[in-house]
Amino acid sequence: MRKKLIAANWKMYKTPEQAEAFIASFLPHVWEHSRDEIVLCPPFVCIPAVVDAVRNSQIAVGGQDVFWEKEGAYTGAVSAPMLKAVGCSHVIIGHSERRQYFGETDDTVNRKLRAALAAELVPVVCVGEVLQEREAGQTEDVLRRQCGVAFREISGAHAAPMVVAYEPVWAIGTGKTATPEMAVEAHQVIRKEAAKAFGEDVATKLRILYGGSVKPENAKALMSQAEIDGALVGGASLDPKSFAAIVKW
Ligand code: PEP
Repeated sequence: MRKKLIAANWKMYKTPEQAEAFIASFLPHVWEHSRDEIVLCPPFVCIPAVVDAVRNSQIAVGGQDVFWEKEGAYTGAVSAPMLKAVGCSHVIIGHSERRQYFGETDDTVNRKLRAALAAELVPVVCVGEVLQEREAGQTEDVLRRQCGVAFREISGAHAAPMVVAYEPVWAIGTGKTATPEMAVEAHQVIRKEAAKAFGEDVATKLRILYGGSVKPENAKALMSQAEIDGALVGGASLDPKSFAAIVKW
């Protein structure tokens, strides 16, 4: 059985003070919740406040991006050992907004993924097709290419902690959600690519999350699919009640 993981991607929202207020309100809703893993990914500047606020709870904290070098003259960048040092256990890599606005490519995703694994962070690697690709029947090809490059030069033993998030770009922040059937089909393609790269055993244990307009109203239909191992939630994770309702699908 793969334990489901529900991750919040706060994107560029919340100050440290607002993050603390969120956690004060969120924690009582999930204090006893152990069925699923919960991860909060706030903006970098909020990480210390969030790590402090969730101490002694089951909630983990992740970064939203990472650079592949450990240190150096890379203005504005944050490394995997730095995320680890401030209390992160997870990191999102290759989010479509990074691909769209910050020049992320399949190759940089691979470098970041290897750096995160080397630092013993759990990477949440995002893949997914844009609308034009889905409409052209290219979803499977896109997922195979994205995974094929992202998984390069990583052994099965190193890949084991990794998580993948299938995030169809046309569903992110749009209110449009993939049907459970569409998500399951995409997850099966990703799992096949993982089996090719890492072997059947790692692929069977790999958690594949769905992301794209997950809300309290649609969480149950998606999360009750055996092939969907959790959710990466953007907009609906900004409100403590709505994120708690998703966690408790
Ligand atoms: C995301 O940012 O990864 C995401 C899925 O956003 P939303 O839930 O707002 O679609």
